[in-house]
Amino acid sequence: MPDTLTAAAELLPAARRALKRYYGYDNFRPMQADIIQSVLAGQDTVVLMPTGGGKSVCFQVPAVVSEGLCVVVSPLIALMKDQVEALKGNGIAAAFINSSVGTSEANDIARAAVSGHLKLLYVSPEKLLSDGFMQFLGRVNISLFAIDEAHCISSWGHDFRPEYTKLGALRTQFPNTPIVALTATADRLTKRDIITQLNLHEPKVFLSSFDRPNINLIVRPGQDRVGSVVEYITRHPQDPGIIYCLSRKTCETISQKLQQKGIKAAHYHAGLTPNQRSKAQEAFLQDDVQVIVATIAFGMGIDKSNVRWVMHYNLPKNIEGYYQEIGRAGRDGAPSTAILFYSFADVMQMREMVTKDVPARQAQLNTAKLERMQQFAEAASCRRKILLHYFSETLAHDCGNCDICRNPPTTFDGTLLAQKALSAVTRARERLSVTLLIDVLRGMRNQAVIAGGYDQIKTYGAGADLPYLDWYSYVHQMLNDGLFYIAYEEGYALKITPRGHEVLKGELPLLLKKFQPAEKAEKPTRASRKAATEAAATGSPEARLFEHLRQLRKQLADEQGV
Ligand code: ADP
Ligand code: MG
Repeated sequence: MPDTLTAAAELLPAARRALKRYYGYDNFRPMQADIIQSVLAGQDTVVLMPTGGGKSVCFQVPAVVSEGLCVVVSPLIALMKDQVEALKGNGIAAAFINSSVGTSEANDIARAAVSGHLKLLYVSPEKLLSDGFMQFLGRVNISLFAIDEAHCISSWGHDFRPEYTKLGALRTQFPNTPIVALTATADRLTKRDIITQLNLHEPKVFLSSFDRPNINLIVRPGQDRVGSVVEYITRHPQDPGIIYCLSRKTCETISQKLQQKGIKAAHYHAGLTPNQRSKAQEAFLQDDVQVIVATIAFGMGIDKSNVRWVMHYNLPKNIEGYYQEIGRAGRDGAPSTAILFYSFADVMQMREMVTKDVPARQAQLNTAKLERMQQFAEAASCRRKILLHYFSETLAHDCGNCDICRNPPTTFDGTLLAQKALSAVTRARERLSVTLLIDVLRGMRNQAVIAGGYDQIKTYGAGADLPYLDWYSYVHQMLNDGLFYIAYEEGYALKITPRGHEVLKGELPLLLKKFQPAEKAEKPTRASRKAATEAAATGSPEARLFEHLRQLRKQLADEQGV
């Protein structure tokens, strides 16, 4: 489409002027200009850019310089409100329609849209897809559909919204209107779901780096969390920060404890009234409180650039969520810190939560994702590398800044171990899940092994000298190091990466962190030791592990200090 491309190139200076006039910025950030050009050329476009990267500009500026209305799909009422207020504040005609807007107001907005007086209209997906609204849209000159937080379309993702899956209808109803989908979640499957479910037509995909080098990644042991938090804040009395907690109750308790120590803190969760919530949010934005103690309900779309630290009081349920939340720190580019409190018992608590009341397939996926989170927390190598690998990026060097880089754990040459595992995966034609791989390496004779014929392959039993838990740790370290990835859509089969092939061929050595059983790493109580010994006398390694975890869980409540 050379004509439209030329037209788009001609619009680019106008886009730049709009950026200056309405937003006050002199330059586009890397990628924004290319994305805007693609959108203006009428291309379907997918934007995968981290939180704070500047996705809004990528559809708002095209909306401003194009004729007609840009319809924006957004998952949260609060998010729509914030963005529309910001747009209006910048002098751009924008409005939102959702369940919080009354009929007469909605009618006024609709009239403004039909008469061409509106540039951007934010809607919830359920509103957009209602019959009346689709008919109304038929009467409007639409320049663009923007699907914000587009990962909500994917059931693999962390914010799945069933209504998003029906947005494919847009392409059918408006075959000639370009669609831009934007998200900060960049994993392979989410990207695939966005493209297929929205019926995008040969979309241009823009993937910007997910590296946030100014955020320093730290994991701390879960003991005495309150003490750690207070100590950190006392040492950084000027720095605004967010503490993410799992439960509403914890938010309130921690906030109270901080206040008792003379720290200006407020809590925020979905159980508060809208008024209470916006008060807490406002106080934090205005620096009237230093610390906000919140559930993950806090933060989507919040624009505070000088958040200096983010803490996770509890283990997040997956890396996507963790990454999004820590991404709220350091949007101004200045050095910032992300601290995750971690104990093995957190995993058990979370495992129960992510598998309860969900279909088996989802439970399995949630568990697999939680395991990646766990392995990040237990990492033996540069945490930034692990995080980026999760988003399919490779970092050439260790970051030198995370806690692991600063204080490396005991390692050994794990090349041979890795080769055994990689060889087994290859010989089994990349059909082994993590558990099955370990069973094959250890020469187990269970049904899955026999049925797959894996007892016939050459590396069967090649790792029989190591216990299950050791292999479990090493295989996850290899995953984290990017030697293979999990194909969730193919029965969780491990697939070897180019890097993995290098290790297999002996071209690349691999360091592994020596596996430390949890009871050594976290001083056992007498009860947990006794239980572990009892279970060990009878059970399988898994049974032993679970018994041990059960004991750990009991300690969790005390340890978390709530
Ligand atoms: P995202 O949706 O990707 O999380 P936003 O669109 O909310 O990010 O933008 C994050 C911040 O970056 C906002 O404060 C926005 O005004 C700012 N921003 C966006 N583009 C630019 C730019 N070209 N120059 C300077 N700041 C920008
Ligand atoms: Mg956004």
